[in-house]
Amino acid sequence: MSREDAASRAGVQEVDDLFWQSSSEPVVESDEELERIVRDAELPVLLVALAAALDDTSFLDPSLRPPLTPMDTAPVPHGGMDEEQQRRAREVALAGLRRLRETGTTRIGGLPADRRRELLGFLSGGREEWFDMLGHELVLTPEDGARPGWSADEIPGAEDFTVLIVGAGVGGIAAAYRYAQAGLPYTHIEQGSVVGGTWAKNTYPGVRLDTPTFGYSYSFAQRGDWPHQFAEGREIAEYLEEVVDRAGLRERVEFRTSLVRLRWDEDACAWAATTVGPDGVEQERMFSAVVSGLGLLDRPNIPDFPGADTFIGVAMHSQEWDHDVDVRGKRVAVIGTGASAYQIVPAIADDVASLTVFQRSAPWMLPAPNYHHEVGDSFSWLVRKVPHFAQWFRLWVILTGIEGRAHTVTMEDDWDGAPLSISRKNHELREYLAGRIRDQLASRPDLLEIAIPEYPPGAKRMLRDNGVWARALLADTTTVVTSGVDHFTPTAIVDGEGIAHEVDIVVYATGFRPSEFLEGIPVVGRGGVELHDFWAGNARAYNGITVPGFPNFFLVYGPNVGGVVAGSLHFMLERAVEFSLTSIREVLERGKRAIDVRREALDRFVDYVDAGNRRMAWGQPYVRTWYQNAQGRVTAIWPYTNIEYWNLTEQVVPDDHEFLP
Ligand code: NAP
Repeated sequence: MSREDAASRAGVQEVDDLFWQSSSEPVVESDEELERIVRDAELPVLLVALAAALDDTSFLDPSLRPPLTPMDTAPVPHGGMDEEQQRRAREVALAGLRRLRETGTTRIGGLPADRRRELLGFLSGGREEWFDMLGHELVLTPEDGARPGWSADEIPGAEDFTVLIVGAGVGGIAAAYRYAQAGLPYTHIEQGSVVGGTWAKNTYPGVRLDTPTFGYSYSFAQRGDWPHQFAEGREIAEYLEEVVDRAGLRERVEFRTSLVRLRWDEDACAWAATTVGPDGVEQERMFSAVVSGLGLLDRPNIPDFPGADTFIGVAMHSQEWDHDVDVRGKRVAVIGTGASAYQIVPAIADDVASLTVFQRSAPWMLPAPNYHHEVGDSFSWLVRKVPHFAQWFRLWVILTGIEGRAHTVTMEDDWDGAPLSISRKNHELREYLAGRIRDQLASRPDLLEIAIPEYPPGAKRMLRDNGVWARALLADTTTVVTSGVDHFTPTAIVDGEGIAHEVDIVVYATGFRPSEFLEGIPVVGRGGVELHDFWAGNARAYNGITVPGFPNFFLVYGPNVGGVVAGSLHFMLERAVEFSLTSIREVLERGKRAIDVRREALDRFVDYVDAGNRRMAWGQPYVRTWYQNAQGRVTAIWPYTNIEYWNLTEQVVPDDHEFLP
């Protein structure tokens, strides 16, 4: 069966993009209007989109190549093109838009490989080592993307190779999509009653993406008409729902079905999976492989504060927001100042009678004046009228994010500014961000004294600042407490100085237990070894995906694959899915039944990833962050770029693996 046949069987159109639009709207606007649009446009993107649409590389004059100036806090407009480059690029782009209008061009054919290289070379400053990874993300023809180049019915035995996919969040959906394309028989279970994972669960006031929307989508579902520059949580949840519907995956999800335990059956060379469905009855089913799409930020961390159980008001974790609770006119406490609190506090500050924010450590904030902005008229116009502008823009966000802000949070040997900074660049960033905080809180020395973090920028997640956080803290009705929570009474939280804060509602914005992968799910592998015993509190997986002794068991969002200052998470998760499929294909083609990674390969990977993390702000021994586990080892973060991960996961290295039986 050809790739196209396999795809169409999986309900996927020819181009591997669920949001594919084969034509754009015609350009009919006046020159003046086109000039206005060009003035607002991100120029490198517009130039390559025009070059592709008009099949004319004269748009890509080498002197117009963006220098890709590294971003310190936010993407540098036009990749750092200087004024003169921008002026000339606008002239060229305007001529291009006129030509679109004159020629009535509304669609493009496939891009030949050499043309693609030229376009990628222009955008990337000639970094050829990026091209393959970027090709994974630029899906403009049926040959592009990461569709499996094989189908189960081409390989003897594949039709009996059954797979359990656990979870229907970002990772689980990616897995279902690719497994459907490969035609492998799979069962997909989801504990909740909707898809979307974290985006379905987190509905607290103010929830939205804190990374640019266009970098946060699947390569195979390149939505173009996003309303916001930083999407609202609801928009991401709806996108995931739509992906599942467009791909025809929904009817294959067994909702309200949880994985209870897994046991490797040595004789059957398969996993015995115990699940509990909506009827509450346990069922054991056999699968050749298991793909876990369970997330990291899923298990609420609710500290065990003395007396909390006597509190008579409402208490809820940020992820379990009760929308029947009306915060208006109430006295509300928010414990924590991480990414969730940072969105909740400004969203409710104006409505509540009083707000008490318990801050253990202050957050670093990156300037983002556009944080709450819609995408803008000119941008929407470009998406509608320039063929595949949205795909090129998405690629640009991913491309400029490859190195991202990593250089600002990377350690410099012999730097003596610890524990406040880890390098000269990091120190400069600290001074700049602290200066902004000083400006914002100048009128309140009491707040200023506690608002500048005492750890290096980047050691914890940096948040996006458009002024609303400072405004909420400055409100007359807000109190920031830094002495900690000592205990609860039935009506109050008593702080570390013995002051009682009477409240009606307590919001635990106290984060998650991200290091405890597959918590509460016993996974018994070869020789009766249990996964959590093997990990002993220190989760490790080869490429973040596989664990020795647990054959045909794949983690999509496993240890050490998250990115915080660089890279696309969707790319990492898609790659893990692709690696799992390549592993299965290897098994089937060898006429074997299972693949198990070798211990030495895992250890080598862990040394590699640890060495990278030790050089980053979050890997310093004096820093405490959820990126680390209780032993102080960073388990959440991938310290390198998407390119290194691409290279590592490109093939299944035979020497790193054992094939069973
Ligand atoms: P978090 O970053 O772990 O923050 C938890 C907060 O609670 C921190 O301020 C922490 O203080 C505080 N805390 C924890 N235990 C405490 C205790 N016993 N007493 C007092 N304070 C305590 O959790 P989160 O805010 O839910 O965010 C988790 C992650 O989810 C983020 O880093 C991000 O990756 C993701 N997220 C993303 C978005 C988005 O994209 N828009 C939004 C929300 C969350 P310390 O800092 O001192 O530990």
